[in-house]
Amino acid sequence: MKLSHRITHLTPSGSDGWEVFYRARQMVEAGVDVIELTIGEHDIGTDPVILDAMDRAAKGGHTGYAMVPGIQNLRESVARRIKEKTCVPTTYENILITPGGQSALFAAHLAACDEGDTALFIDPYYATYPGTIRSIGAEPLAIETRPEDGFQPRAEDIDAKAKGARSLLINTPNNPTGSIYSRHTLEGIADICRKHDLWLISDEVYDTQIWEGEHLSPRALPNMAERTLVVGSMSKSHAMTGSRVGWICGPVDVVEHLINLATHTTYGVPGYIQDAADFAISQGSDLEDKIAEPFRRRRALATEILARHNTVGVVPSQGAMYIMLDLRATGLSGFDFANQLLDAHHIAVMPGESFGRAAAGHIRVAMTIDDARFAEALETICRFAESLSN
Ligand code: PLP
Repeated sequence: MKLSHRITHLTPSGSDGWEVFYRARQMVEAGVDVIELTIGEHDIGTDPVILDAMDRAAKGGHTGYAMVPGIQNLRESVARRIKEKTCVPTTYENILITPGGQSALFAAHLAACDEGDTALFIDPYYATYPGTIRSIGAEPLAIETRPEDGFQPRAEDIDAKAKGARSLLINTPNNPTGSIYSRHTLEGIADICRKHDLWLISDEVYDTQIWEGEHLSPRALPNMAERTLVVGSMSKSHAMTGSRVGWICGPVDVVEHLINLATHTTYGVPGYIQDAADFAISQGSDLEDKIAEPFRRRRALATEILARHNTVGVVPSQGAMYIMLDLRATGLSGFDFANQLLDAHHIAVMPGESFGRAAAGHIRVAMTIDDARFAEALETICRFAESLSN
């Protein structure tokens, strides 16, 4: 039977960029002791206090269909958290609870773009971005950033491609680069969105992982609340990746349409998961800081280790659970470096090429294993890079 073009062309090259990750997983299954520094998954698991809240909610009977837009308490606590962080007036009516940030990315693009419309995104990018845009029938168009700019997008590069586009997707703090967009960068982006009448889709799922500087939500910039759809998630802030709970924050009329979409697609998020998420948010920044702390520590360890090695270039790691290393001095692509590293030292990292063209010759290292093993693995990566450059 013939399948739709849309489904068969989600990842047109036939590659999703995750070959090194899959190869590492096969090695693990075959009994090899691989150090996996690939995906953005906390090593601590969901906090027991959140699991207790989930258990209480499920055993208390919250296992039937939940309200499609999200339970009132959670919509309100997400709105309150956003208002506190950004000072932008926000109520539950601005919030749709979604099954994770990924589903919010899909819904935001479906709200912003018609079939055939151009949807802009920044390269390097979280691996699902172009496929998500294709899945709603729009055309993804990448805007490349440069390592020498710390991967901050330049306004003129966006401007050059924005004519006729419908949306721009940005992500700060950024996966994979760890950069946090400066106020200057975000003001430039906001100007372009206003000039070209673009929807800004702002993926802020790493907003609790800030190591340097501060996170500014572009929804807070002048006249941006009416054209910004913020994507949020409990996955990274509360180590709830498997619970699949996130949100979109946007104008009330957009949220009303998105509720209609949710009715016809996901039919909401399980009530006991939402109760647990509401409980977790109500614990405030203490719990968020506790969950971010291991990455803060490892990022400090990495800074120390990388300062001792000069073959490996460092992209300033300002936020998120990753560090990006510049291995162009080895003469290898990120892909070849990652494959050789996996074979020689059983350490799995993500090639920069998995995240687009701008991060070619780089690798992304997830700081997701215990400190001592992480430090040892990073030393090994640096020494391996040195041995290849000599
Ligand atoms: N956005 C970014 C930048 C991510 O890195 C991820 C996951 O790694 C997501 C969105 C999706 O997260 P989730 O669907 O688990 O909320």
